[in-house]
Amino acid sequence: MKPSSRPHQPSLSSLTSCLSDYDPQAMPVAQAQAIIHAFITPVGAIEKVALRSALDRVLASDIISPIDVPAHDNSAMDGYAFNSADLRQDSDTILNVAGTSHAGRAHEGTASRGEAIRIMTGALMPAGLDTVIPQEFVQIPAGSPAGSIIIPAGAVKAGANRRLAGEDLKAGTPAIGKGRILRPADLGLLASLGIAEISVRRRLRVAFFSTGDELRSVGEILEPGCVYDSNRYTLYGMLQRLGCDIIDMGVVGDDPQALEAAFRSACENADAIITSGGVSVGDADHTKQMMAQLGDVAFWKIGMRPGRPLAFGRIASGGKQALFFGLPGNPVAVMVSFYFFARTALLQMMGAQASALPLMRATAAVAIRKRPGRTEYQRGILSTSDGQWSVRPTAAQGSGILRSMAEANCMIVLAHDQTDVASGDQVEVILFDGLI
Ligand code: AMP
Ligand code: MG
Repeated sequence: MKPSSRPHQPSLSSLTSCLSDYDPQAMPVAQAQAIIHAFITPVGAIEKVALRSALDRVLASDIISPIDVPAHDNSAMDGYAFNSADLRQDSDTILNVAGTSHAGRAHEGTASRGEAIRIMTGALMPAGLDTVIPQEFVQIPAGSPAGSIIIPAGAVKAGANRRLAGEDLKAGTPAIGKGRILRPADLGLLASLGIAEISVRRRLRVAFFSTGDELRSVGEILEPGCVYDSNRYTLYGMLQRLGCDIIDMGVVGDDPQALEAAFRSACENADAIITSGGVSVGDADHTKQMMAQLGDVAFWKIGMRPGRPLAFGRIASGGKQALFFGLPGNPVAVMVSFYFFARTALLQMMGAQASALPLMRATAAVAIRKRPGRTEYQRGILSTSDGQWSVRPTAAQGSGILRSMAEANCMIVLAHDQTDVASGDQVEVILFDGLI
């Protein structure tokens, strides 16, 4: 991924210079999201994969249906097919059953007027027949020769219970648009079109490491004053769920030379780099100096809680470049900043057409303190009783208390200008779980 192979890329300063209210020390969440969005260029490379392997991948080009689906008119019911011209309006219709059409084994020959064909769901409609009456609606006349049926007056309308060729999809019409993250229904749809191989975007390569002299990796001894590095595990999980190829670079100490070496290596091997720690006031200075040499990186203080400090930009090394997110160190702040900044940015780099996360309204079960001038992402527990959804924040909301994320099933999103929430007020939540 050479810089020259990319389309024109705006610099951060060109993006922020036109903003009259740009204040890197007090950035509203929405402004940071907009700058990030404008800064990103998708990674173009494409690969072909077998249908099953396309699950959760980003579709690279529009899929146009090569065939009509269904390919032929067929029955939607088990019953009897007949010609609606035979249907009497004001009295019963009696028809002779002249054969059977099974799914995958059609009735051979034609039906004459006054004849019905026993038909199964999915079986081809015999030529000239346009209507199916479900078997439970017909009567078999008592004492009449075997093989005739009575259709009671008014039991069925002309054209009923027949699936028309192409009613699901017509040949030549768009079936799925590029940028779609392929879901189970899409795999089924592609299979229904007979498509065995799919062009998808290549996976995004994301390198990540944790910074901090106090960090110990799982398996190491925890000396006094040290903490286990949990951020690399939450980041692993979040990136894995997004379908990225991940490069876990471990822990890097608070040492400018080690950090520079790690950034260069990450940049040369990945499309994007995510770090945690070292971007808050105390730590940022040596990082800032190094970043100024490596690339175009801004250090922001976002009006949000948790997750105030954020470094963002692009780094170049060895003729390669990579997008960079420097997330805060606190474990909850890492997750919240990832979800509300990095996630959308990475999806955009993947060429995915991701829709905004749906917000749901729920009743606050308790009062929630909220200071205007920042967006708060409180970890919440959403529950339902008598059809009413209510939410309460988890007990502890500190940005270092990872248990709050594990206990929660949603995030309560309190907007920038929102003030204190009274018990019984409506609030917006984002669910952690989705069906598909
Ligand atoms: P920092 O942003 O580097 O000042 O870190 C803020 C807080 O988050 C400190 O208490 C760190 O010890 C903690 N922290 C930083 N990185 C990690 C990590 N990878 N895992 C767990 N805690 C961390
Ligand atoms: Mg640190």
